[in-house]
Amino acid sequence: MKKITKIVLASGNAGKVREINKLFASSGIEVVPQSDFDVPEVPETGTTFVENAIIKARHAAECTGLPAIADDSGIEVDALDARPGVYSARYAGQGASDEDNNNKMLDDLKGVAEADRTARYQCLIVFMRSHTDPVPLITQGSWEGRILEAPQGDGGFGYDPIFFVPTHGCSGGELALEEKNRISHRAQALNAMLDEFKRHHYI
Ligand code: IMP
Repeated sequence: MKKITKIVLASGNAGKVREINKLFASSGIEVVPQSDFDVPEVPETGTTFVENAIIKARHAAECTGLPAIADDSGIEVDALDARPGVYSARYAGQGASDEDNNNKMLDDLKGVAEADRTARYQCLIVFMRSHTDPVPLITQGSWEGRILEAPQGDGGFGYDPIFFVPTHGCSGGELALEEKNRISHRAQALNAMLDEFKRHHYI
């Protein structure tokens, strides 16, 4: 089986590139962001995380000729029937800021008791050897928590300040980045992808 040495990441997010490179360091794989190749953003038109991740990975592979990895993530809140899910980034509308999204969620959950505020981050990772790969590798991670009644801490991003992590007794915004990157939905899915690479003798 052909070994993999270089992968394009279907994102220009510097934080994600750093996080993935750190996790993949020992595997001998170099991860480069698609922004290095001027890959334009592609509309995320899927209704599931996995569809969106495939759309992004296929696009990055097609534009660069490299194997590609893409992640798609979001938060699902039980009291909101699993919303906002794939629409997490635009929960309060197109172009909404993290603060707008957090405020809308706190509003929508007004009056909901602590026990009913359960939620989880979901992350789907897709790896495609090429844009025509008919068998993408797919891994998943989820991170359980609860939506607070007010923001706590200013670390992390997105919903982290209102996401209570019961195992650590603090919000995602109060967790040290190193610790978040050890236990998060994304870390779980990335570690599972490394296991898949080993299983396929790609590394
Ligand atoms: P993306 O797929 O990584 O772009 O994530 C989509 C949206 O989900 C983000 O804009 C955030 O609102 C939310 N999200 C995903 N992962 C996290 C996280 O680790 N912390 C906080 N919010 C997140």
